[in-house]
Amino acid sequence: MTIAFTAHAQAAQKPAEPAKAAETATAVNPFLAASTLQYQAPPFDKIHDSDYAPAFDEGMKQQLAEVDKITDQADAPTFDNTIVAMEKTGATLTRVSKVFFALAQANTNDNMQKIQEEFAPKLAAHQDAIFLNAKLYARVKKLYDSRESLGADPESRRLLDRYHLAFVRAGAELSAADQAKLKELNKEESSLSTAFQQKLLAATKGGALVLGDKAQLAGFSDGDLAAALEAGKGRKLDGKYVVALQNTTQQPAQESLTDRATREKLFKASIDRAEHGDANDTRATIQRLAELRAQKAKLLGFKTYADYSLADQMAKTPDNAIKLMTGIVPAAVAKAKDEAAGMQKLVDAQKGGFKLAPWDWQFYSEQVKKKDYDLDQNEIKQYFEIDNVLQNGVFFAANKLYGITFKERKDIPVYQPDVRVFEVFDADGKSMAFFYADYFKRDNKSGGAWMDSFVDQSGLLATKPVVFNVCNFVKPAPGQPALISHDDVITMFHEFGHALHGLFSNVKYPYLAGTNVPRDFVEFPSQFNEHWADEPSVFANYAKHYKTGAPMPEELLAKIKRAGTYGQGFATTEYLGAALLDQAWHSLPASAAKQDADKFEAASLKRYQVDYTLVPPRYRTSYFAHIWGGGYSAGYYAYLWTAVLRDDAYYWFKEHGGMTRENGQRFREMVLSRGGTQETDALYRAWRGRDPSVEPLLEVRGLKATKTAESK
Ligand SMILES: [Zn+2]
Repeated sequence: MTIAFTAHAQAAQKPAEPAKAAETATAVNPFLAASTLQYQAPPFDKIHDSDYAPAFDEGMKQQLAEVDKITDQADAPTFDNTIVAMEKTGATLTRVSKVFFALAQANTNDNMQKIQEEFAPKLAAHQDAIFLNAKLYARVKKLYDSRESLGADPESRRLLDRYHLAFVRAGAELSAADQAKLKELNKEESSLSTAFQQKLLAATKGGALVLGDKAQLAGFSDGDLAAALEAGKGRKLDGKYVVALQNTTQQPAQESLTDRATREKLFKASIDRAEHGDANDTRATIQRLAELRAQKAKLLGFKTYADYSLADQMAKTPDNAIKLMTGIVPAAVAKAKDEAAGMQKLVDAQKGGFKLAPWDWQFYSEQVKKKDYDLDQNEIKQYFEIDNVLQNGVFFAANKLYGITFKERKDIPVYQPDVRVFEVFDADGKSMAFFYADYFKRDNKSGGAWMDSFVDQSGLLATKPVVFNVCNFVKPAPGQPALISHDDVITMFHEFGHALHGLFSNVKYPYLAGTNVPRDFVEFPSQFNEHWADEPSVFANYAKHYKTGAPMPEELLAKIKRAGTYGQGFATTEYLGAALLDQAWHSLPASAAKQDADKFEAASLKRYQVDYTLVPPRYRTSYFAHIWGGGYSAGYYAYLWTAVLRDDAYYWFKEHGGMTRENGQRFREMVLSRGGTQETDALYRAWRGRDPSVEPLLEVRGLKATKTAESK
């Protein structure tokens, strides 16, 4: 069985309404058998919305029958007849879950939303039906208790440990009455989490800025204007300009909008998106979610949900995570204040006659960059045409380090015409995997960027990786090239780093495959891969003018580099605000978990000294999808945790001759291919030769000199 550590919890239960499938008999449900396409790629040309519900029902039914077969056998438990047998259960459910949840995030519609609403609690209950199955747990426990004498190889031993832990964490050792309570909490949590996602999607769409007058968008390039007009058309608002909201508090469009009133409008539209007191207001849902999680943690014997969540992570305790963050807060805020002072100077020099507000930040930060670093995003974008970045940047870097190559496959079905499929070949020329790329923003796509898989690699199941990346880059008007920002380039390298973690997986058991590692490790390969975007030999290969093919002029590159640490005060502070908010919400004991969202947010930011008005959290409570809708509850700190690993790892490469095939191969073998087969701290130590150090991160972010205080 596969367990997702990402947003897509897989789970299940027995069918509530038997077999609607039988009535539409003639068409065979595509999820009921393994896909016959290469690498079992999903047959998107044959999948209809009406296939999901019957496949979920059938998949849950099948898996429960398979589990019964394991528990009802007369033979005493062995590793093979229990643990390995469990790994083979749930094939149908895995197939339908992988596709359904991928599309529910990347390409949803009303039907899918209804199915998601219906099945989220059923899947949570199914998960419970397995992990709270007393007979099954008795077998697992018996094996676990005799683990030293089983003679299992290290990966099998690790699998047994992980299974045992999963059962314990799911409540297998609780009394029957407490298990019943836990099941109710899990069901309600999954329903509310789905409700949150759907409200937020609608709120984000509804929050878009709709403008009738082109003048209000002064500063937009012709391409941006055309895209805004096109977005209006897409919403049947012909002739209107629509600026859709991105996930984050600050919006990319702010960089170029010269009309201060438009900027203020856009900022307010963003931060208030889910707080209009209407059906899409998320605050009541959040309040209840925080309560439920605190109750769940208490039931399982933990002080708070954060304690429960982090016990299974590399960080081990909330205290370790909070210490890392609060240790950096003073330096980050001080640097942000420096940045603000620089911008205020510019406002004053231009006789602006106002005090900098949060909606001015992106705009003046751009101006400072232009002035001090002479950096112009529109000029830079001309060198980042998306396909060129992908093939001659992202793929090129992967080839240099790991020897792999790519070939586009137009014959593999996709779920949306913008999606592209690439076959991946290993250094010896052998085909090894598929990689899908879905890069452009759509109204039916959740915000942000992510990676996941349609099929996980497994030696046991003889499957190869089929992985995908989803992003939200602005789609150009028809006939226009897709020119992306330097940030977008970094996002592409980031998501592809996750993809590599999935592609290089070389393990036996699906439970331990690829990115099935703790959250505060899973962002390490992705963040690490970002470093190669700016590697001179890689950069020179993709940063070419989209019209002339001329390489980016050296002065422009030098400017980008110089500007590199500029803005780190802002970026680190807005991140810390969100990450500390996440810890605050999940560090509430059950007795005090019911909080007013607005008041609690303000008080928490103050408590951790990240209440700097000019730099609001990257996500405010009411639209913090990572923690209420996704898999990052009490885990948003993981980005900083893994950033420490990222920079420390990059320094290892620097110390050992840089971007060589040999260094790449060593990293691939010792880290990227290992999935969850080892404790992550041990795995890292074995590769690095020591524990991670925070020094490289402080140096890379230019926080070292101003680092004033270390809390405790
Ligand atoms: Zn990531």
